[in-house]
Amino acid sequence: MAVPMKHLLSPEGKKALRALLSERPLLAFDFDGTLSPTVMMARQARMPQGLARTFQEICDALPCAVVSGRGIDDIRKRLPIQPKYVIGNHGAEGIAWPDNHLLALRETCESWMTQARDQLAWADMGPGLIIEPKTYSICLHFRLALQRAQTVNALKASFAQLEPAPHLIWGDSSVDLLPENGPTKRIALEHLLKLEDRQRALYIGDDVADEHVFLAAPPDWMTVRIGRDTRSSARYFLYHQTEMMDCLRFIARVAGFTPSFHIH
Ligand SMILES: [Mg+2]
Repeated sequence: MAVPMKHLLSPEGKKALRALLSERPLLAFDFDGTLSPTVMMARQARMPQGLARTFQEICDALPCAVVSGRGIDDIRKRLPIQPKYVIGNHGAEGIAWPDNHLLALRETCESWMTQARDQLAWADMGPGLIIEPKTYSICLHFRLALQRAQTVNALKASFAQLEPAPHLIWGDSSVDLLPENGPTKRIALEHLLKLEDRQRALYIGDDVADEHVFLAAPPDWMTVRIGRDTRSSARYFLYHQTEMMDCLRFIARVAGFTPSFHIH
């Protein structure tokens, strides 16, 4: 049976976080729904200034990474500060992967776009479907699709025809297509730990792509899901994205950079 998730800001959660921070871990965060509040339109996502100020203090103290499915240029412009690592495209960008590996990913995505145009007619799947090629992955947004169920069904049927078959990451209102042999958020984090010569990581995220990290995280990583969900593989949770402020303040205080009067 799965171990029940614990609230990160409970006495037990804080004790575990304090112990982790004493080992100077890598701190890694998803962006959408984690560092930025969930918004109706993906293009509106921004990191609030107050959160950014505290995050800056933490970035000054420990190696921090923002790990997102967005393209790296997209994610950079949404961050008011620059942590040591900004990882985009689910792990493909922000790390010096070999050129031939990246080229293979790009060619796969270009081939999918050609197939989508010539055979699968994504563009004709009804108004509101937004196709976002991201060089090393493709995101299809269906939040605004007028006939959402039909659009999703048509997409699923089209994915079955794509060559090579994509790795699919479904969200509430979008789906990401990744080449099967490409980097993932977890692979990117493992790479950053090697670069930093560290063993332990904290990872906070909120969606399906983050579950891949939670599921495969070694026992000494601390994994935190925004939103309690008994199906999650994360070991800790925050009730809501707004608790990130308290979470970052706690981390900053333990790291010794924020006066205690800021803390509950
Ligand atoms: Mg997210």
